[in-house]
This record gives sequence, C-alpha cells and structure tokens, in this order.
Amino acid sequence: MVAQLNLVEGKMQYVYDENGRRYLDAFGGIATVSCGHCHPDVVEAIVNQTRLLQHTTVLYLNHNVVDFGEALAAKMPGELKVVFFTNSGTEANELALMMARLYTGCHDIISIRNGYHGNATSTMGVTAQFYHKFNVVQTGVHHVLNPDPYRGVFGLDGAKYANDVQDIINHGTCGHVAGFVAEAIQGVGGVIELAPGYLPAVYSIIKKAGGVFIADEVQSGFGRTGSHFWGFEAHGIVPDIVTLAKGIGNGAPIGAVVTTPEIAKVLKYAYYFSTFGGNPVCAAAGLAVLNVIEKDKLQQNAYVVGSYLKDRLNSLMEKHEIIGDVRGRGMLLGVELVKDRKLKTPVKDENMQILEQMKDMGVLVGKGGFYGNVLRITPPLCFNKEDADFLVDVMDYTMSKM
Ligand code: PLP
Repeated sequence: MVAQLNLVEGKMQYVYDENGRRYLDAFGGIATVSCGHCHPDVVEAIVNQTRLLQHTTVLYLNHNVVDFGEALAAKMPGELKVVFFTNSGTEANELALMMARLYTGCHDIISIRNGYHGNATSTMGVTAQFYHKFNVVQTGVHHVLNPDPYRGVFGLDGAKYANDVQDIINHGTCGHVAGFVAEAIQGVGGVIELAPGYLPAVYSIIKKAGGVFIADEVQSGFGRTGSHFWGFEAHGIVPDIVTLAKGIGNGAPIGAVVTTPEIAKVLKYAYYFSTFGGNPVCAAAGLAVLNVIEKDKLQQNAYVVGSYLKDRLNSLMEKHEIIGDVRGRGMLLGVELVKDRKLKTPVKDENMQILEQMKDMGVLVGKGGFYGNVLRITPPLCFNKEDADFLVDVMDYTMSKM
C-alpha cells in the first residue's frame, strides 16, 4: 500500500510534508491553486474578511460578493453578465443543467463521452465514465463521440465528430435539446484538446436544435491555458452559460455560473438557494485571485512557461518510447503513457508507479484519462522555467529506470 503524503504547508509552487520535506507541486492542488499556495495577497484577503464577517446568506448583500460578481462578469464576453455563486464545480454544473432545462423547456442534454462535470445526480449523468460504472443511467442524456485527436475514430477531423452530435439529435431526440456541455480541454479525461473545428460546428448544431451551449471552465479558465483567459475563447465561440470553480478561489471552496440576463430569468420562477455559495470570505479570495493573475501576469507566464515545458516534454518523447502523446496548452498539460506507440496500448497500473517515484524525488503530478494512463500537469500559474526543468529531469530519470 502506498503511504499517503501528509502535507502541512504550502508556499507558491511548493508544498511541505510533516517532516519539512519540500515537493514541487506540478498538480497545483488539483488544478485548484492558480496563484500559488498561500499567495500572500490571497491569504491577506481571506484573513481580513474572516476578521470582519465570515458569513452571510444570499438573503443579504456583502460588498465582496457584489464586487467579485461584477469583476467576473467584466471578464466575460457578450451578454454573459449574470453571476450565481456555488460551492464547487459540481454544483455550478448542476445549476447550469437545471437552467438549460428550465429555459428551453426541454430535457435532453448532450455531453462528450470522455468529459468530466462532477459527482452529483445530473452531473454524473452527463459524465459518461460514471454513467456506466455507477449505474446512474438517466433519461434524456446522450453521450457523443469523443473528439480526441489521439485516440478518436476521426483523428483531427472536428467536423466528422460534430456530425455525431447531429446524428444523436436526429435519432435520439425529438429534434430539440436543452443543451450541450463540454470542457474546452478535457482535464480529468486525460487533458484532451478537442479536434479543431469541433466546438464551433457543435455550437451551430445546438443552436439550430434550440439548445444552450454550456462551457465548463472549471479547469480551463482563469488563464490556465495561457493563450486565453477562458478556454472557450480559443474556439471562437461565446457560450450561453459558463461554469467556474477550482482556480477561481486558489483553493477556497467556491464555484460560479455565469449566464445571460435572459437565461437567468428562469430562476425567478424556480427555487435556487445555496447556504454557503458565494460567502464573503471565498468571494474575497476570488477577488484577490483575479487581481493577482493580472498583477503577476500569470496568464502570460502560463503561456511562456507552459510552451517551454511542452517543448521539453516533446523532446523527452524522442527519448522514451513509453510516451505516446504530449498535449495540452499553457499549464494544462498531459503526457499519455503507452506500452506500444504504434498500437497505443495504454500502460498498466504498475507503470503508473511513476507517480510514486516522482513523488519520492520531490515532484507531484496527477493522473487521469479513460485508462488512467495520463500524467496530468497543472501547476500553479507561477511555475517558472527552472521548475519546468526540474519536473522534466525527474520524469526523465524515473522513465530511464522503468
Ligand atoms: N468540471 C470539471 C471540468 C472538473 O474538472 C471538475 C472536477 O475535477 C468538476 C467539474 C467538478 O468540480 P468539483 O470537484 O469542484 O465539484
């Protein structure tokens, strides 16, 4: 059995265990720590607000909650100007799905087979990997082909995968749908960049079917992809609903749903309440996060250091046959491990001991993917080139010993 690490302290890209041993956190919590562990500005905002007022319900206003809502809305394009706060990404997606259904009067939701959207009833329904494993079969949920350039049946042809969405609408629904939900880059599913052209094509298919487009930005938001602040921007679309969590509070438990005034109206006639959602302390953390990302130029850093790290990982691929694919953008990167490059046979669990070996050498990375064979690299956005070098050197060494 693997001894679990007991972490007691964090400083920017590093965490420390109970014995004072330092680890480079290349998983960034779980893609949650956007600014760096215990970033002084975020800590200060949390401590100050905790001293003043720890909690008020949505029945009353608090300036942090209002300011944070306004700041998030200002970061969004188009009509995406109404913000609802939740405690997590799961709750944000549950609310988004409910809104889509209420707004359209339709029940059918389409999601991508390899996506991950949370662990409550509706979100497990749209998360295909749960659907079958945990028997959460639901009516009106349709899982379409994964537009995965590496393993998908149509390779890089986004339009062909989009045809599957049209096909499902034609044959599995009455022709109308409530909506479609997707991540701009799948995180838990193994850091999969959707085939080019897929999202814009699906966007127009969904619009024609009367549905709303939900962008799950829980992992790909807040500058993590480097090139854009929101992942969907790289696909040239403006969603109807955007869901946020993880990096939004640098680890503070908060999520959000951002939508248009027209869609938001549906909640006037339905019941939505969250005791802790958008409490003043988490909202203070969120405001500080937005400021730090701007002040410390973290999105730009994610782009520069992320590109450097990806180049180095690609070079490692030339040396180690076990690396089948390197992908992702900015600081949302994945390394898929295979037994055979040509056949793309996923490595077995024992090869994933690499995570433990890297941990023993002082580097933390995550794992994911349908076969559990993808190393996930989602460090705090303050990660620098020396950190990238150290990470790659440790990976190189452990792979040489396999
Ligand atoms: N959506 C995406 C893309 C996620 O990666 C996750 C969590 O990993 C969720 C939703 C669920 O968020 P939470 O774990 O905060 O409920």
